[in-house]
Amino acid sequence: MDFSWNDAERAYRAELVALLEAKLHENWWNDFAYDGPAGPELMANAREFNRELAARDLVVRHWPEAYGGKNASAWQQIIVSEEMWSNGEPRSSLYLGANWAGPAIMKFGTEAQKQRYLRPIAEGRVLWCQGFSEPEAGTDLANMSTRAELLPGGGYRINGSKVWTSYASRADVCFLLARLDGGGKSGVTCFIVPMDTPGVVVRPIPAIHSPHDFNEVFFTDAVAPEDSRLGEEGQGWDIVTTILHYERIGAARYEYSRRTLDHIVALLRARGLFEDPVVRGECASALAMVEAARLLTYVVIDGRAKDKPPSADTYVARFAMIQADHAVANLGSTYLPDLLVKGGDGMLHAHFTAAITSGIAAGAAEVQLNMISGRYLGLPRGA
Ligand SMILES: Cc1cc2nc3c(=O)[nH]c(=O)nc-3n(C[C@H](O)[C@H](O)[C@H](O)COP(=O)(O)OP(=O)(O)OC[C@H]3O[C@@H](n4cnc5c(N)ncnc54)[C@H](O)[C@@H]3O)c2cc1C
Repeated sequence: MDFSWNDAERAYRAELVALLEAKLHENWWNDFAYDGPAGPELMANAREFNRELAARDLVVRHWPEAYGGKNASAWQQIIVSEEMWSNGEPRSSLYLGANWAGPAIMKFGTEAQKQRYLRPIAEGRVLWCQGFSEPEAGTDLANMSTRAELLPGGGYRINGSKVWTSYASRADVCFLLARLDGGGKSGVTCFIVPMDTPGVVVRPIPAIHSPHDFNEVFFTDAVAPEDSRLGEEGQGWDIVTTILHYERIGAARYEYSRRTLDHIVALLRARGLFEDPVVRGECASALAMVEAARLLTYVVIDGRAKDKPPSADTYVARFAMIQADHAVANLGSTYLPDLLVKGGDGMLHAHFTAAITSGIAAGAAEVQLNMISGRYLGLPRGA
């Protein structure tokens, strides 16, 4: 494997860096840290920024041309992800549509769904949210109780509630998992539900990483049209299993950690703390974790670029990202705690609070380890 970048890839990255430097305002890190990516102003900026990215073919270059892409390799997507995450992710949830909702529709959608949903993602016009977790179903998604029922005249009536739904208050559509009455053994089925459907109510949950990101979403006799079902009735698990591989390494969080680590080292130097061999050793160890996470992610991207089926490498990469996030966050809290508070250093605060959530978002760290132990080591599942 050769992970060096060619000239075209370097030029592509340089274009992104220049665009980000021009677009992110001076107070970016403070706004991002204290108002969160789904704050009203940042969301308005994100929508404008997304259209500009799309106009420059920087959203889904890795998609087929038929759906608005340029048939570029998966490596181009990771370059976009790295540069965006180096700034915390200024696209807001556009990454979700580009990384996994779009690919899921390409793989499992009808032609009409592809026509309807893929172009708006490619053009940076639509924001998605992910309606999987419920009060009694997080790791154990099989516990989900949101129900869909096929109506005699067509369409699905949906009842239930979702929780921790990032960006729901700002999203245009929800990629929803619900249990369809009569839909096979588990009944779990995917739906694409517009957020302005009558009967869909969003209630924000202020959280440590942001006052605006998290939400509860209630579905009360919400009726989604029949063509809102993605895939077959009861095919939800197949679809989710496929897309989780995209979701778990779709966000290049190691780049966020790397940028924060470089910033921490600069601050430690300025305070004369970096001369301490213990501090230097801890920084070096964090750097090793960040770069290990990067290379483990590249292993997965390499497989994807070669059209290999997803493997447990995804979970290894994801777990490495969580460790890297924590190692960098620990450096900040140990040596620069005065800068983590509100009004301190925006980048440190934003990374620190995001790192607190990283071992639970997109599947808990322990669950990644369970997957690795089962798939690689053949260990039995716990009782
Ligand atoms: C920042 C963030 C953003 C999120 N965004 C979304 C979103 O947009 N849409 C959405 O649907 N969900 C979202 N979530 C929810 C997330 O998917 C769940 O929090 C996660 O799946 C864990 O579920 P839970 O919260 O119910 O915790 P639980 O499943 O109760 O797990 C709690 C802890 O118990 C332990 N544990 C549980 N099961 C096992 C096991 N089998 N083996 C070992 N240990 C175990 C782990 O330590 C775990 O951390 C988000 C979460 C966060 C933190």
